[in-house]
Amino acid sequence: MLPASALPVLAAAALYVAIPPAQDAPAEIDLTALAASVETAAPAIQEDLPQNVEVTVQRNDTLDRIFRSVGIDNATLAELRTLPDVRKALDILRPGDTIMLTHVDGALQSLNRRISDTLTLSVSRGDDGFAVNFIENPLEVEVSGARARIETSLFDAGREAGMSATTVMVLANEIFGWDIDFANDIHAGDEFSVLYQRKFQDGAYVSDGRVLAAEFVNRGKTHRAVWFESADGSVKGYYTPEGKGMRKAFLRVPIDFARVSSGFNPRRRHPITGQVRAHRGIDFAAPTGTPIYAAGDGRIEFAGRKGGYGNAVVINHGKGITTLYGHMSRFGKSARNGRSVRQGEIIGYVGSTGASTGPHLHYEYRVKGVHKNPANIALPNTEIPSRYLAEFRSQAEVALAQLELANSAPGARLADNR
Ligand SMILES: [Zn+2]
Repeated sequence: MLPASALPVLAAAALYVAIPPAQDAPAEIDLTALAASVETAAPAIQEDLPQNVEVTVQRNDTLDRIFRSVGIDNATLAELRTLPDVRKALDILRPGDTIMLTHVDGALQSLNRRISDTLTLSVSRGDDGFAVNFIENPLEVEVSGARARIETSLFDAGREAGMSATTVMVLANEIFGWDIDFANDIHAGDEFSVLYQRKFQDGAYVSDGRVLAAEFVNRGKTHRAVWFESADGSVKGYYTPEGKGMRKAFLRVPIDFARVSSGFNPRRRHPITGQVRAHRGIDFAAPTGTPIYAAGDGRIEFAGRKGGYGNAVVINHGKGITTLYGHMSRFGKSARNGRSVRQGEIIGYVGSTGASTGPHLHYEYRVKGVHKNPANIALPNTEIPSRYLAEFRSQAEVALAQLELANSAPGARLADNR
């Protein structure tokens, strides 16, 4: 699970594309979809024996439609919906969900449906109507350590060390993304180690969980971070071992770093004048349509056509700081003059409008109108409030000690049920 503080639009989010539930959508019946949604058709001969049907929910499916396709009468559904908690648990359908139905000649005997990774709804017909049970199927969590050395790419290194792509994205987007330029400054020989949770159910691996501590050695410089959550829940996030927040006021890379390509130089001679234009920003070459994020919280000062910048957005972040994003193919929904934006919000998409020789984001960071290289600016960060420092230190000490263990014995299982 990603922490609540996770940036909503960074690349990790793409792995969790939310598909809106198709609740009671008054769509017309699509007979082909209907046939496809019933994997095991009930043979019509054995009328008195219970039939087990496993239904896979399709896009735009409704429970009405599913019941009809199986041959269960609508009165049953109406009855189920009057049961406490069942209505809510039944009405949210996600494509790909499976529902197990047992019926005898159209009379529902039982219904089982997984509501989440850990909860199953079970309804069965008893003597006095339907009995409802919510069955818990808890996840076992273990803490593991892994260490990786980059030879070709960050993702390859993570995969070889047994980490999920999501865990690697958390490292880049939520932990070290403010300190390390993952688009341009990752090198062969860089190393990282991670202390993280792995979730199992009935002994089988389900997914990676929270990253508890991590270390990244980028060009010989070591960055370390630990996850902290205070007992009262009011402080949580990733911090340096000294208690300084990893999350900073500005993103180093205001674009999905995984889509930035190297080896492209947009600073070529101007195709018309033949001159190299004075360059005052950073260029990120990426495919047209790659989302561009607001580097920090602020207010849209300009969104429109701006000479050689093409379609451009300027955000005012206060304290004299502005950021500019040029050559966009199109604007994001939040790119309206005067509108407030949050860090990570999509303000536009990569393009090649204006004086540009190929799709890229031209990014400028300016303090009182003077261009600065954001990589050289000490970004202000947030600290653990002093009354939580003792609690932080004791948690951090344990996590960092375990990370050390992970460094010396990668792959070791370190602790259970954290
Ligand atoms: Zn540029």
